[in-house]
Amino acid sequence: MFDISERIALIREKIEQAAERSGRDPKQIKIVAVSKFVDPKRIQEALGAGITTFGENRVQEFLTKYPVIKGPVQWHIVGSLQTNKVKKVIGKVQLIHSLDRRSLAEELSRQARLTGIEAAVLVQVNVSREISKQGLASEEVIPFLKWLSTIGGVEVKGLMTIGPLGEPEKARPVFRQLRELFERIADLALPKVEMKYLSMGMTNDYEIAIEEGANLVRIGTGIFGRRETAQRRRNHG
Ligand SMILES: *Cc1c(COP(=O)(O)O)cnc(C)c1O
Repeated sequence: MFDISERIALIREKIEQAAERSGRDPKQIKIVAVSKFVDPKRIQEALGAGITTFGENRVQEFLTKYPVIKGPVQWHIVGSLQTNKVKKVIGKVQLIHSLDRRSLAEELSRQARLTGIEAAVLVQVNVSREISKQGLASEEVIPFLKWLSTIGGVEVKGLMTIGPLGEPEKARPVFRQLRELFERIADLALPKVEMKYLSMGMTNDYEIAIEEGANLVRIGTGIFGRRETAQRRRNHG
């Protein structure tokens, strides 16, 4: 069995190789360790192995971990965010990967007016058009961004997508399309819209995502092991 630091070393190696295959600088690629269902002790272990960015997708769970993790940590929200939970995460998270609708943007904007803290977000795109996935359709993204750049309080830092389930190679055209959209948007130079982060790739398909241009990869299972196991372990002490 591998421990967390060995798994991270392995992933770093694979990231480096994928970057080299595509002529990219591996230093430009950042790991977001997705720590949902992972207890603070194991998060601390990953931190000890040099991971500094953690992604959570349930606000309640995030709020229990946030005060107990010690060290130079950044937190990201990677999963769908309920509008009524926004005020609980403002000022605590550095990036929200999952802006997918106007009502959420409006609440982020409202909180920015109240707190003076502007939220940094990625717009989530449902490139593969799987019904089960959140995110805007590709053709909705530019009109959404144009509207977003007028409401204030929201700083767009890039795009995020979740690849299709199944065979990892199936994700390649999806990632490529998001990369193309990312570049098209960058060329528009919209106010408050910066195309800095391209968040794509999970345990199953992060190498392909890197080959297609990802610079944030969201890896859970590959670092912490299977979540079912983690959950069972937690439930049974
Ligand atoms: C859980 C999750 C991940 C990590 O998935 P793994 O397959 O465990 O690497 C990445 N992104 C999002 C949005 C997630 O919810």
